Amino acid sequence: MDYPELSLFIGGEWRKTAETIPVINPADETVVGALPVARTADMDDALDAAAIGLRVWSRTAPRERSAIITRAARLMQDRIDQIAYSNTLEIGKPLGQSRYEVSRGGDIMEWDAGEGQRLYGRVIPGSTGLRNTMLRQPIGTVAGFSTWNFPVATAVRKISAALSAGCSLLLKAPEETPAGAFHIAKALQDAGLPDGVLNLIYGKPAEISGHLIPQEQIRLVAFTGSTEVGRHLTKLAAEHMKPVVMELGGHAPVIVCGDVDPVKVALLGATRKYRNSGQVCTSPTRFYVAEGNFSTFADEFVAKAKATTVGNGFAEGIEMGPLANDRRLDAMTALVEDAVSQGAELCAGGRRIGNKGYFFEPTVLANVPDSAKIMTEEPFGPIAVLNPINSLEDGLAKANHSPFGLAAYGFTNSAANVDQMMRELEVGQLSINTFDTSIPETPFGGVKSSGYGREGGEEGLHNYSIIKNVSYQPVI
Ligand code: NAD
Repeated sequence: MDYPELSLFIGGEWRKTAETIPVINPADETVVGALPVARTADMDDALDAAAIGLRVWSRTAPRERSAIITRAARLMQDRIDQIAYSNTLEIGKPLGQSRYEVSRGGDIMEWDAGEGQRLYGRVIPGSTGLRNTMLRQPIGTVAGFSTWNFPVATAVRKISAALSAGCSLLLKAPEETPAGAFHIAKALQDAGLPDGVLNLIYGKPAEISGHLIPQEQIRLVAFTGSTEVGRHLTKLAAEHMKPVVMELGGHAPVIVCGDVDPVKVALLGATRKYRNSGQVCTSPTRFYVAEGNFSTFADEFVAKAKATTVGNGFAEGIEMGPLANDRRLDAMTALVEDAVSQGAELCAGGRRIGNKGYFFEPTVLANVPDSAKIMTEEPFGPIAVLNPINSLEDGLAKANHSPFGLAAYGFTNSAANVDQMMRELEVGQLSINTFDTSIPETPFGGVKSSGYGREGGEEGLHNYSIIKNVSYQPVI
């Protein structure tokens, strides 16, 4: 199997560029591909194409739109070997996790395609004899920015929501992991998507967002990435009065009450922590464990961290691949050194593995003071923090003591504890007695510095539509 020859996709045509940037395999630092870099003229062509695409697509019957998107989702399933292969090559994750991502991407597309047929309006009775009809219409052309940790899934979220709602889209896919979006665009083209509805561009992120967001034609900005960049793009969008969907960072707390089996929860927690090398916005990071269970929980968690097999995602039996790039290695090392210098106990890992490929040890820190950087900065890597709590109140206060509010987890068999967690945890996604989080059917997103808007579920498509009320007097 080969890594694809990447191109921009503009107005239904694949386009090469003069300038390219190497795409690196994080497992061995070899060059696997060449990222085309869009110039302003390419972006302007993509805007023109998206205007034509919008005219055609917004007038296409929702059922027909849904059929094309569903067909593309099934093509992705047929091509799962090829797509998963390039995913593991560019992000390093174990092949099984890449296959799961592709299959989940297809599920999201199918769900959104169905929801696109149900973007109902309302008929509203009034006192004046007027007939009032509220319509939902496509918002227009969207500027989407997907990211590298889930090259297929974060691109699918934007593409399928925009297309299902009848919008056209310019997607800037990530520099490090461009192939996921490339395969999705190919599947949509092969499924019969009209030219210009989806336009795929790559290049220098700040140049692309700086050029696209101010354009009159762009009506929504949808971004997945760090809070810092999200804040910058939100300001830019606000200057030009554009709404945004921002899926930003997280720093998920896990409250483990005294009434659950600490061994079972520790094993589940450590397994989930190191998935995707911890580069997941919902990754469980701060484990707050009832005092009485703390040492049993910590022993099991540390044992699992030490036993986690790390290596090239193509090798059999690998549970964790490398980090995405060398910036992440430096970030992990700095967070561990800072925590240890402030008195945290390093129970497992803490160092880079070898000197080829961006591998880092599954790491556990215990009894970490609140002043350590890792308690407020998103690690976005394979580091877990284990701290004891003396009550649920204590756990809730510590869990909410964070600028982030994306995901949280609670483990308890008490209905009263569940009720209190549901009411008091300041997050957009709470999982009880499970580490499973968002599925295509449910709305996903954060509060506080974790962002704005929702992706998935019925609500996901609402961001991509506008509401228009029509007041109609039958006779004049
Ligand atoms: P980064 O903030 O430089 O980049 C993150 C993403 O934003 C990349 O895809 C990049 O292409 C894009 N980006 C950067 N500047 C941009 C701009 N001016 N306009 C448009 N897009 C821009 O960070 P990084 O070093 O790549 O990743 C580190 C941090 O990003 C992590 O600590 C994590 O918090 C965050 N992150 C979050 C998610 C998520 O799912 N919410 C995903 C990836 C990264």
